Amino acid sequence: MLTSAAIRQQFLDFFKSKGHVIVPSAPIVVKNDPTLMFTNAGMNQFKDYFLGNRNPESTRVADTQKCLRVSGKHNDLEEVGVDTYHHTMFEMLGNWSFGDYFKTEAIAWSWELLTEVYKLDKDRLYVTIFEGDSKENLPKDEEAYNEWKKWIAEDRILLGNKKDNFWEMGDTGPCGPCSEIHVDCRPDAERKLVDGSTLVNADNPQVIEIWNNVFMQFNRMKDGSLVPLPAKHVDTGMGFERLVRVIQGKSSNYDTDVFTGTIAATEKISGKKYDYSDTREAVAFRVISDHIRAISFTIADGQLPSNTGAGYIIRRILRRAVRYYYSYLDYKQPLLHQLVPILAAQFEQVFPELHQQVDFVSKVVREEEEAFLRTLEKGLKRIEDIVTGAAASKTIAGKDAFELYDTYGFPFDLTNLIASENKLQVDEAGFAAEMEQQKQRSRAATAIDTEDWVVLHDDAKAEFIGYEHLSTKTRVTKYRKV
Ligand code: ATP
Ligand code: MG
Ligand code: MG
Ligand code: MG
Repeated sequence: MLTSAAIRQQFLDFFKSKGHVIVPSAPIVVKNDPTLMFTNAGMNQFKDYFLGNRNPESTRVADTQKCLRVSGKHNDLEEVGVDTYHHTMFEMLGNWSFGDYFKTEAIAWSWELLTEVYKLDKDRLYVTIFEGDSKENLPKDEEAYNEWKKWIAEDRILLGNKKDNFWEMGDTGPCGPCSEIHVDCRPDAERKLVDGSTLVNADNPQVIEIWNNVFMQFNRMKDGSLVPLPAKHVDTGMGFERLVRVIQGKSSNYDTDVFTGTIAATEKISGKKYDYSDTREAVAFRVISDHIRAISFTIADGQLPSNTGAGYIIRRILRRAVRYYYSYLDYKQPLLHQLVPILAAQFEQVFPELHQQVDFVSKVVREEEEAFLRTLEKGLKRIEDIVTGAAASKTIAGKDAFELYDTYGFPFDLTNLIASENKLQVDEAGFAAEMEQQKQRSRAATAIDTEDWVVLHDDAKAEFIGYEHLSTKTRVTKYRKV
C-alpha cells in the first residue's frame, strides 16, 4: 500500500516536474491579516500576488498547506467525527500559476496526476464546471468544458452553480469559475444507479469532492461589473486526507495511515476499541484523532490556547476533545498530550516545527487538560444541580450557562450538549447577553497599548469570548503591531 508520505511526495514531485517551485506551508495561524484568524486554504499566503501587491518569485509554485476550518466563512467543526471526510485541520495540496499557464495545462495535469501517477479508476471520476449565471451576467465556463472533453466522457462533466463553482475573494477583486473533481467510491452495485445528472456529493458519504481548480480570470469592480484580468491565474486545492483515502481504498479518512497511529494509541491508553461505527464511542475516537492535530500544529505555529480570539478557538477545540474522552471513553486523566509525540514523529519530514517543539507542545496541552479536568468534575456536579432546578421551565437560564462558562470553563456547546441529553434547552440569547456584558468589562480592563506591542481585541471574530477564572495563571497573547 502506498503510504500517505509517498502520496504527498508524488504530488510535489509531479508539479516539480512541470516546472513548479515547491514552497513550505505558511503557518496555520495568520498574524497579519485582520480578515482571517487561521489559514483556511492554500491560496491565503499568495493573496498579494493575485491582488498585484507583490510579485511572486516564481510564476509556478506548489505545496502542501496546513489549513484549519473552524471559524468564519469555513466552519466544519460540527461535521468532524460525525462524517468521515471533514477535518478541523487538514492538508491542502495545491499548485498555482501566477499569470503563467491556465486552463489547458491545469486540467490536463490534474487528470494526468490522478489517472497516470495515482492510477485512479477513470470510471469513478466526475468533474464539475460553472454553468453560468445570467442574472449576474457570468458566462458558462465553456473553456473548461472543452478542456475536460479531451479527457473524460461528456456525461461525466456536470454543471455546477455559482455557490459551488464560482470563486470570489470578496465583493470586489479577482474572481472566476472553478472546476471540481469528485470520486465515486461506492461499491459497483450501488454505483450503477447513478446517472451523471443526479450526482450530488452531499447525498452520499462515499462520493466525495477531492480537488478544486479555480481559474481567476475576472476582476469584480466596485459597480459589480466584471473586467477580464490582464494576467490570469490558477489556484488549486486538493484535500490530502481525502486523496489518501481514495488511493488506499478506504471508506473513511480515519482508516488511512494519516490517522491510524493516533487512533491505535488512543485505544491503548483508554482500553477501548475503535469500531468504525456511528456510536458515540467511535465518534469520540475520530474527534480525538482529528482535534489533536489541530491543537498540536496550531500551538507549534505560535498560538497558545487562551481566553480570547484565536486562542479561545483552540481552547474550545481542546475542551471539546477532553469532553469526548471523559464522557464517552470514560477516561478521566489527561490523554491528548500523550498523542503529541506520535504526531511529531509522523510529520517530522513534512512539518518539522512540531517535532522541534514536541516537549513544549505536549506540556501546554497537558496543562490545558489538567486545568479543564479539574473544573470539568466540579462543573459536571454544578450542572447536575442546574438541571434539577430547570426541571419545571425545561430551560437552563442564560445566567447559569454563563456561570458554567465563566467559572468552570464550559464552552457553550458543552452545556448545550448536556442540556439536550437531559431534554432541556439553554437560553442562548440570555447567555449571549451575559457574554456581551463580560466583553464590555474586559475591554475596559485591557485597553492598553504599549509602544509597538498591542493586545489585539480580535474577540469580535471569536464565537464565545470572555475571561475565565480557572486558575491564577492568565495567558495574554501578544502580537507585534503591523
Ligand atoms: P466540501 O464541499 O467537501 O466541504 P469545499 O468545497 O468546502 O469542500 P474547497 O474550499 O473547495 O472545499 O477546498 C479544496 C479542497 O479541500 C476540497 O476539494 C477538499 O478536498 C478539501 N477540504 C475542504 N474542506 C475540508 C475539510 N474540512 N477537511 C478535509 N478536507 C477538506
Ligand atoms: Mg466545505
Ligand atoms: Mg464543495
Ligand atoms: Mg470545493
